[in-house]
Formats: sequence, C-alpha cells, structure tokens
Amino acid sequence: MTIETTQPHGVRIEQRRVLRTEVPGPRSRELHARKTAAVASGVGTTLPAYIARAAGGIAVDVDGNQLIDFGSGIAVTSVGNSAPRVVEAVQAQVEDFTHTCFMITPYEQYVAVAERLNELTPGDHAKRSALFNSGAEAVENAVKIARHYTGRTAIVAFDHAYHGRTNLTMALTAKNMPYKHKFGPFAGEIHRAPMAYPYRWPTGRATCADEAFEAFTTTVRVQVGAENVAAVIVEPIQGEGGFVVPAPGFLRKVAEWCAAEGILLIADEIQTGFCRTGDWFASTHEGIVPDLITTAKGLAGGLPLAAVTGRAEVMDAVHTGGLGGTYGGNPIACAAALAAIDTMQADDLCAAARRIESIMRPRLDALAAKYDQVGDVRGRGAMLAIEFAEPSSALASAVAAACHRAGLIVLTAGTFGNVLRFLPPLVIGEDLLSEGLDVLEAAMGEVL
Ligand SMILES: *Cc1c(COP(=O)(O)O)cnc(C)c1O
Repeated sequence: MTIETTQPHGVRIEQRRVLRTEVPGPRSRELHARKTAAVASGVGTTLPAYIARAAGGIAVDVDGNQLIDFGSGIAVTSVGNSAPRVVEAVQAQVEDFTHTCFMITPYEQYVAVAERLNELTPGDHAKRSALFNSGAEAVENAVKIARHYTGRTAIVAFDHAYHGRTNLTMALTAKNMPYKHKFGPFAGEIHRAPMAYPYRWPTGRATCADEAFEAFTTTVRVQVGAENVAAVIVEPIQGEGGFVVPAPGFLRKVAEWCAAEGILLIADEIQTGFCRTGDWFASTHEGIVPDLITTAKGLAGGLPLAAVTGRAEVMDAVHTGGLGGTYGGNPIACAAALAAIDTMQADDLCAAARRIESIMRPRLDALAAKYDQVGDVRGRGAMLAIEFAEPSSALASAVAAACHRAGLIVLTAGTFGNVLRFLPPLVIGEDLLSEGLDVLEAAMGEVL
C-alpha cells in the first residue's frame, strides 16, 4: 500500500478515492461510541468518519478510506488540508514561540497579517485590521466598532443570514433550528429585512432586486429609523442560508443607500473570502466596497483566526484597549495565515476557483435538467449549490447520505435544509473533482 506519493502542490496523500470498508467503518464506529459517551450531544457530526490524515482534496479516515472532500471543513482549507507552506510556517513558528498575547508584548506576524488584509480587501482607502479567534467573534467586534463609531445602536441583518452562534451573532442569524432554538433571550437592537433571493422571490427573478431593496428601505425607515442604524450586515453570498446569490444590483443599491444615510455596511465574508468565489472577496463581484469586512474560515489554512478590516477612521475611533482578547491573532495562526495567503497568491487560487466553477457548473446544470426535483443551481467560483424545489430537507439529506456512503464529503445548507452545497479545496485536481461529481451524479440517481 503506497499512499505517500508526492502530487502536484507537494500533496503527500494520493489524490484518489479509496473505499476499504463501509463509511463510516468499524474503527470510526468505535470512536463514535466514545464520542457519544464523552462529547455533549449538542455538538453534532455530519459524517462520523473519523479523520486520521488529510491533504489536498482527500481526507483519510481511521479505517483507511480515502474520502473526496467537497466541504473543506466548511470553506476553511481552501489551500488544501495541511498545505505544504502552512505546515512549514506553523512548524517554524511553534518552535519560536507559541503565545505572548498581542495586547501584552506584540509580535510582527500579527502586524503582517493586518497589512495583508488591508491590502487585499476591497477599496483603496486607508484601512486597519484587528484579529480574533472565530468568525462569530469577528462579527461581534464589527458590531462593537460600528456602534462606537456611529453612536447609534440598531443593526440590520437579512432573512436567511448566518453570522454565528454567540448571543449577539445568534440574534443576527435568521434560522431557529438548530442555531437559536431555546437559546434566547437574544441581544437587542437587531432588525431583519428581506433578502433578494431570486429563486424564491414571490414575483420572480426580474423584479427581485428592486422589490427587495424597496422592502429593505421601508423596513429600516418605518420600523427602526435610518438615523438609529449603526450598520447593515450582509453576506455577499449567503453561506449557511443556502448559497443565496443576491439578485444583481441589490447589494449595490443597499450600499449606496447606507452611505447616504450614514449607516456602515459590514460585509460578512467569513465564508466567501479568500479566493473562494473566484475573486479575493465576493463584494468585488457585487461592485461594493464595504466599510467593514469580517473574515475567518479560509484565512489561515485550517488554523483558527478571524479579522475585522475596515476604514481607518472607523476602526481607529475605538479607544485603546477597547478591542482585543487573550488569544486574538495567535502567532501560530498568523504564521499559517501568511503562508495560506502566499499560497493563494503564488498558485493563483482565485483562478483555480473559477476553473472549478467551469467544470462543476455544467455538471450541476445537467443534473438540474435531468431531475425536476432540482429547482436551482447557483453560486460563484468554488462555492456552488443546488437547491431542491421542495422546501424540506428530505432529498438533500438523502443525497448527502448517499454521497457520504460512497466516500464523498458534501454538506447541506439552506433555511429549509434543502440545499446541497459544494466547497472543494481550491487546489483540488481535475480528476478528483470529476470523480466527486460522478459520485454525486450516482447518488442523485440512487435517491431521485
Ligand atoms: C461560519 C460563519 C460565521 C461564524 O464563524 P465561526 O468561526 O463559526 O464563529 C459567521 N458568518 C459567516 C458568513 C459564516 O459562514
């Protein structure tokens, strides 16, 4: 058995699917019994195949099955799992020092990540960044900063939004189950407006952007008062909400209106950022330059790191000591981020995401043409999804389960749980991508 071969990008696991047992296999099932006995059951698992090693687009489980990864740990390992530059940078950093707390005795790596973020995010205005541990923490801080700068308190979020699981971010997140159910009361001063969701817009796609914009401004004016709103927060493509790409022009209108009303626009690019959609940030596709942008997931090649990047005058409005946290911008996570960003630049992973789209999109469109149950195919770059017409999770869950059994990691999403979403690592090879699509096609054939 030789699986330690060197592949393109220095990947050290052969990039092909191998099934040695059923998935999950016996060793995974043993571990899962231990999980059930030791881990709080509120922490669920999508596919309880326990992973031993992973590289590129393959995750090897403890039974030796090689699974194709169309999830990237929810859009995190965009540069591939244990990407060579990330591994090297982390190993070097962990030997130098592991932690000092940037708020106590700082270090260059944090500053370098901030510089890269300021340079890569949309807009050529002066920017500042602050680093945190998780996406939810970044969103919380973006809200703190927006309130502090504007002196206003209200925040507007959209239908189908997902911004995290902490108290404030649960309030911003739209969906009750599983994120909010019985976890209230939630943070106050959060208001919700309709999202321009073309596939489900009552009067159709053509009218979606204008009508949703009208409904948004009416909601804000009538129910909140524009002068009370600190910020509007939006995912330029909604993630957990089902890869909803807002109707063309909607976000630009929202951005212009916010600017006119003195409201800050926060783009939550935690899932869409770092080449995922074929550009560094999805805001660029929408022609918007957000005042504040939150990032996490793809930023650090698998290590926990998050950021708020924004206009210098907004970010610097907060008093010294007002932002921070013990671990925020941990040096190992920063070293990983610098290596991940180097990888994205050197290997042009934005182009790789567009190439993935050019291969996947026709295959997904063909499935939609073949099966009436498929209502919509959408997304950008390597962030693609199919939505089943029926607003219930049955079909998406069944197709996902069939994929899992066949060794393909896929995720579901959507307000109704009826979306299959695909987030392959951007370094995935064409053969593996095609094989994954073959597995999906067979799973659809099995279920539909
Ligand atoms: C995942 C996600 C978050 C929350 O990030 P965590 O690191 O899980 O706290 C927030 N916003 C969006 C758009 C996300 O996809």
